[in-house]
Amino acid sequence: MKVHEYQARQLLASAGIPVPPGEVITDAGEAARVYEQVTAKAGTDLAVVKAQVHAGGRGKAGFVKLVRSAAEASEAAKFMLSNKMVSVQTGPQGLDVRKLLIAAGVDIEKEYYLAVTTDRAKRTDVLIASSEGGVEIETVARENPDAIVKEWLDPLIGLQPFQARRMAFRLGFKGKQIGQAAKIMLALAGLYRSKDASLAEINPLIVTPASSDYPDGQVLAIDAKFNFDDNALFRQKDVAEMFDPTEENPAEIKAKKYGLSYIALDGNIGCLVNGAGLAMSTMDIIKLHGGDPANFLDVGGSANEEAVTEAFRIILSDSKVQGVLVNIFGGIMQCDIIASAIVSAAKEVGFSVPLVVRLEGTNVDRAREIMDGARGDIPTLQTASDLTDAAKKVTSAVTAA
Ligand code: GDP
Ligand code: MN
Repeated sequence: MKVHEYQARQLLASAGIPVPPGEVITDAGEAARVYEQVTAKAGTDLAVVKAQVHAGGRGKAGFVKLVRSAAEASEAAKFMLSNKMVSVQTGPQGLDVRKLLIAAGVDIEKEYYLAVTTDRAKRTDVLIASSEGGVEIETVARENPDAIVKEWLDPLIGLQPFQARRMAFRLGFKGKQIGQAAKIMLALAGLYRSKDASLAEINPLIVTPASSDYPDGQVLAIDAKFNFDDNALFRQKDVAEMFDPTEENPAEIKAKKYGLSYIALDGNIGCLVNGAGLAMSTMDIIKLHGGDPANFLDVGGSANEEAVTEAFRIILSDSKVQGVLVNIFGGIMQCDIIASAIVSAAKEVGFSVPLVVRLEGTNVDRAREIMDGARGDIPTLQTASDLTDAAKKVTSAVTAA
């Protein structure tokens, strides 16, 4: 599960990580008032207006704007709330922006990258940092891998203070910055663990220019991103409450409700499959035969008629879908039960696009009889003898259509 930057900042603040004050608005009319408020609080005239969407790359897309007056803040807010944001992470269709964060702006001496995530190869969590902050870490990894430093977390005792200090030294923090940076690293690692996060990222972590309060500069987080383990949300009620359904694909939300794993893709062949491995190989074989899957959909091992009906509804609600391939392996699940579910679901939902069904496994003969008996009711139905046959039939039906 993803959350917005403003929610991530709340988490950082709750762990004692310094974050400039800010407030969220949904209406450009509130921008001027909030600008006055946050700048007064921080004693500056600089503020930053930031789109709150579940995608990064906002700065380059023009959706992070520095402003120095209430009028500029209003103008930036109006622009962001009435234009789609297109960034490297959104795809060309872009994203609607419904919420903005207006935060006190800061002067930046230097930007760093800091994150905690899982290192699968080492089977433990890792603190990753770079003195090339403000840039996507993927770009740094590609172009200047030596600029990335890591400290691995002990699975039992987590990040240790000596590791945080060593990391701060290696990044080039100086004087009082070292203690501030190490404290932030320990707090971030603590949040990552206590909140069941799969990613806790501050990009950029910054150092401000020297001031009378901070002769060595202050270390601050000015952007944050958290991803959480969905399977742990049952014990993370406060995190689960941060969920913003308007940021997710509505079909994916509906699917979750019925226990279906659904991911929308760009192609035109809808897939209904049981088992994630089978779903992936089904998508591969569609591609192999020149087609393009419209989605990944795993109805799971114990799909009932209700779930299959919902799965069809979700697939057919995608206007790009010009054909549907059902590929079911009856292991624990019996093919005849699935066949009946498919037939009644197809009747209920109503099919106008080609439907190709391939069933194999327990009670397959009985299932074929059921499918054969349904031809009159579902005129676009074809059955397939194996996976290759199914892929060929559905791609040629879609090409012909
Ligand atoms: P992202 O592009 O979605 O990651 O958004 P960020 O919040 O990281 O902002 C992008 C860039 O804008 C940062 O790397 C900074 O260079 C700049 N920026 C953001 N906030 C401030 C601020 O308060 N002051 C200054 N001077 N620059 C900022
Ligand atoms: Mn950022």
